[in-house]
Amino acid sequence: MTYVYDFTEGDKDQKDLLGGKGANLAEMTNLGLPVPPGFTISTQACRAYLEVGDLPDGLAGEIDAHLESLEKQMGRRLGEPGDPLLVSVRSGAAVSMPGMMETVLNVGLNDESVRGLAEQSHDERFAMDSYRRLLQMFGATVLGIDSEVFSKALDRLKKDRGSTSDTDLGVEDLRGLVETFKQAIHEHAGRGFPQDPREQLELAMRAVFDSWNTERAALYRRQERIDEGMGTAVNVQAMVFGNRGDDSGSGVAFTRDPASGNQGVYGDYLQNAQGEDVVAGIRNTVSLADMEQIDKASYDGLLTIMNTLEKHYRDMCDIEFTVERGKLWMLQTRVGKRTPGAAFRIGRHMTDEGLIDTDESLRRVTGAQLAQLMFPRFDEKAERSLIAKGMNASPGAAVGKAVFDSDTAVEWAERGEDVILVRKETNPDDLRGMVAAKGILTSRGGKTSHAAVVARGMGRTCVCGAESLDVNSKKKRAKVRGGEPIREGDVISIDGTTGEVFLGSVPVTDSVVMRFLEGEHIDDDLVQAVDRVMTRSDDVRRLRVRANADTPEDAARARRFGAEGIGLCRTEHMFLGERRQLVENLIVAEDEAGQEAALAQLLPMQRDDFRGILEAMDGLPVTIRLIDPPLHEFLPDYTELSVKVALEEDQDDLDGHDQKLLDAVKRLHEQNPMLGLRGVRLGIVIPGLFKMQVRAILEAAADRITAGGDPQPEIMIPLVAAVTELDLVRGQVAEVAADVERERGHAVPHKVGTMIELPRAAVTANEIAKSAEFFSFGTNDLTQMTWGFSRDDVESSFFSRYLEHGIFQVSPFESLDVDGVGRLVRHAARLGRQSNPDLHLGVCGEHGGDPASIHFFDEVGLDYVSCSPFRVPVARLEAGRSALGSSTDATR
Ligand code: ADP
Ligand code: MG
Ligand code: MG
Repeated sequence: MTYVYDFTEGDKDQKDLLGGKGANLAEMTNLGLPVPPGFTISTQACRAYLEVGDLPDGLAGEIDAHLESLEKQMGRRLGEPGDPLLVSVRSGAAVSMPGMMETVLNVGLNDESVRGLAEQSHDERFAMDSYRRLLQMFGATVLGIDSEVFSKALDRLKKDRGSTSDTDLGVEDLRGLVETFKQAIHEHAGRGFPQDPREQLELAMRAVFDSWNTERAALYRRQERIDEGMGTAVNVQAMVFGNRGDDSGSGVAFTRDPASGNQGVYGDYLQNAQGEDVVAGIRNTVSLADMEQIDKASYDGLLTIMNTLEKHYRDMCDIEFTVERGKLWMLQTRVGKRTPGAAFRIGRHMTDEGLIDTDESLRRVTGAQLAQLMFPRFDEKAERSLIAKGMNASPGAAVGKAVFDSDTAVEWAERGEDVILVRKETNPDDLRGMVAAKGILTSRGGKTSHAAVVARGMGRTCVCGAESLDVNSKKKRAKVRGGEPIREGDVISIDGTTGEVFLGSVPVTDSVVMRFLEGEHIDDDLVQAVDRVMTRSDDVRRLRVRANADTPEDAARARRFGAEGIGLCRTEHMFLGERRQLVENLIVAEDEAGQEAALAQLLPMQRDDFRGILEAMDGLPVTIRLIDPPLHEFLPDYTELSVKVALEEDQDDLDGHDQKLLDAVKRLHEQNPMLGLRGVRLGIVIPGLFKMQVRAILEAAADRITAGGDPQPEIMIPLVAAVTELDLVRGQVAEVAADVERERGHAVPHKVGTMIELPRAAVTANEIAKSAEFFSFGTNDLTQMTWGFSRDDVESSFFSRYLEHGIFQVSPFESLDVDGVGRLVRHAARLGRQSNPDLHLGVCGEHGGDPASIHFFDEVGLDYVSCSPFRVPVARLEAGRSALGSSTDATR
């Protein structure tokens, strides 16, 4: 068993074994770049350690051997008193994650070797500075002492010296600090700082391994679906010193701008600094461009290396480097994280530069990134005053008056004001307020908090966990650390894409990408980048994309977004408003004649509805679902109506209609409406209703044909569980079709199919397919029916718990539960096609717009997905990416 690998032994593709940091250090070493030598203790060693609870057999020996060879190479021994070799101990799992142990630098220093370092470097100050850093990092990360113990002592000393900069501290100051730190370690850790360098190394390594199991890391893994069993690697690397004076320093850089994607020199540099000083904000850094003036040779060397790295990785890289007395060293690289805009631009630029092809640029962007680019955003040029920052829980840009409780949110929203609901955290009681608000801001909770989950579900902008806000809902205000409090009615702006909170109203601009996707011609480099991958995606995808749209306007918009038909046109909203009266008449009708009369009044209205939609989607299929919800949803509220009737009775002024209505409401009341008289069941109990709808569809289509159009209606029967139900309704459809054909003198082409949204339908799909020309998987209901819970009831009550516990990594309403619901879909698709090879298959649940689900539907072989108009571009992009076999998540 090999546990330890020299940097010369690995490469960038061995992340699972060496961790990301180790794999890339090896890659750079083998590219011949100046990387301080070292070795990686593999994730396998970590796994073995965690399994036994101690170092596995052979590991200590391997480390000794590698250390010895490192010592030979460097010509010094670890912690040798006269001339010590010092190393860093760095954690690094395959994917970087929060909660893992921070790096410890300068391992090998002790009371003796610090003198050796001073002598060798002729710089006592540097030696003392390195030692106090070791004590500080080791104390905090390995021994688990609160890091404030150290930072406060340092701050106090700086204050005593009347300075804000650590570089102003002299040798004696630092010597004193070393003593203070050693004492603090004694006090807080109950042991002295280990003087034995080999013990330092081992304790640090164990601490890295142990940090795999910190609560934070474990929680993050559950949420991000990272395998619990992977473990982390540990890198041991010879130190180079950026804290040796002004000809030294440490820096970070990106090979392109991670914000815009543009080429140029991006990064920060800090003279006379070590490790993370440059990003820790302890002193003001200079921009990388300014480094050219400070140290031209190192700067030029760095640019050459960045170029090498980009060519080699064929991607934007981020880099950590250190300069020690004019010599440049590379300490880390990886493919850099970037904003969505940068992702698209970099893809385009790199294609133009010949580094990658268009397919690769398509693989490298995601539907989620495209979706972010479609949101309206705060005008980048506008003035703004940042007051807090939280987590970017649900994207968008929202401006409104701060309110601190849901009642006020609802009240103010009703009188037409835009409000932002500000809460410590939200709970199910806040639902009304969240619906009424433009955005939601909380001071507590993470991306799976109630606020975040619900806001994302509703598409509301949300910033959560803005911890610097102290929200007091009783006093209706939020204190802002170091600023004026926000009071009820104060206007604030929240950016759900960045997590930023601003005081006042920041102007919002439309997204150029959105305007482009809606068909406007725009001359903009981001738009060109998006255009190129969208075009490619449309070329390569097999899966078609339709939209869920209920009105001609939505249908037209969906078409502009590239929809290739309508996958779900719901008809229930067509019975609301003024038409509610007609539905009431239908329900209270005493005989068939009464029903017929009510239906006859509805018919022309429905026909108009359908004509408009068929016209907007001329030449493309339009799947119209016959009425699905229980009828009592169209009736007045039971309590209100009984009060009304009681009053009427009191005043001896009984209205017959109201009385009948009340009887109907009573009669139609259901314990579990979701499982009650709805869908196909309605069509069987009140046949006239479905027949009216079918007639309206076919007459509308006939009108369109007469007008020279090309209507392609598809009649969809909801909530079918058994083929016999479908057969009954098909009989009705056939009757109506025959009538219409007779009346119009020509046939009206149409298809009849069903939704698959009940488990029974899925498992008897072979039977159902014999009577259906198409299936559309209604994955919302199928998810409810498979899990046995109703979305409205559970999502806001216990989903956040389920997410925390890792029962779901993501809500099954957001992303298809592939292992459960997905299995039904796969099974039904196969059964259906077995008995009806021409069966057309689609999906019309919200999952049709979810990237991971889209890849699944493509793999299962569905013909199309249907989603809300705004998700159509996302679905087009992901369908293309799926065709190229890319994974759904952003790898960069
Ligand atoms: P993180 O994963 O938090 O970035 P790193 O392991 O990269 O932690 O190390 C933290 C800081 O220490 C970085 O700035 C890194 O460049 C620096 N560093 C790590 N190893 C060495 C070394 N051998 N010599 C000098 N600086 C180092
Ligand atoms: Mg760090
Ligand atoms: Mg790093």
